[in-house]
Amino acid sequence: MDTIGANLQAVKARIAAAENLCGRVAGSVALLAVSKTFSADAIRCACAAGQRAFGENYVQEAVDKIAALQGLELEWHFIGPIQSNKTRQIAEHFDWVHSVDRLKIAERLSAARPAAMAPLQLCLQVNIGNEDSKSGVAPGDALALARSIAALPRLKLRGMMTIPPASDDSTVQRGYFAQLRQLRNELTANGCALDTLSMGMSADIDAAIAEGATMVRVGTAIFGARARP
Ligand SMILES: *Cc1c(COP(=O)(O)O)cnc(C)c1O
Repeated sequence: MDTIGANLQAVKARIAAAENLCGRVAGSVALLAVSKTFSADAIRCACAAGQRAFGENYVQEAVDKIAALQGLELEWHFIGPIQSNKTRQIAEHFDWVHSVDRLKIAERLSAARPAAMAPLQLCLQVNIGNEDSKSGVAPGDALALARSIAALPRLKLRGMMTIPPASDDSTVQRGYFAQLRQLRNELTANGCALDTLSMGMSADIDAAIAEGATMVRVGTAIFGARARP
């Protein structure tokens, strides 16, 4: 097996072990392979090993790869910061967007989503650690934003995504992920039913799964270290 295929199997085994450890149903955590900076050929390798869902951060790079890989029936997730002048391309090429943190972006995505496509599946990015350096809606503003977005056509609000403050301590990691889970429960209790918690990356998959992640976004552990741009 090639390296990407072997890495993918190892990540799947790690997810299965984490599900098992905290008593969650096997297969309840979906794997999003984050392929930013890696080539279409790397994605082909992962696809040959059974992976269908891929996450990308840069619009032009992603659109080029999506075109090169047409015919493979992959599922594309946009997970990077969104500039308003890129919303049309995102709405026309992606199945999911995880990084919506303001209404204006959601309105533009809704307006640009082609009628022939399924609704764009959407997650709010939440700045769970209230860090100045991170994008994301403040936890206290999430309910109001979710309510406004839920009223827009052509979008389907599915859940929330976070990138918590970096920490090597699994107790600290779990604390942040628990906050996102609680916020999800709060929104659901207030009439915004959400079924997706997009949380956990290569370094903190296990903590995220223990706190209820339904989708983990894994790049490095599958494709290797990224070159710094
Ligand atoms: C790059 C990226 C990932 C993947 O991170 P790894 O540490 O390589 O697993 C996940 N989520 C987002 C939003 C990213 O930008």
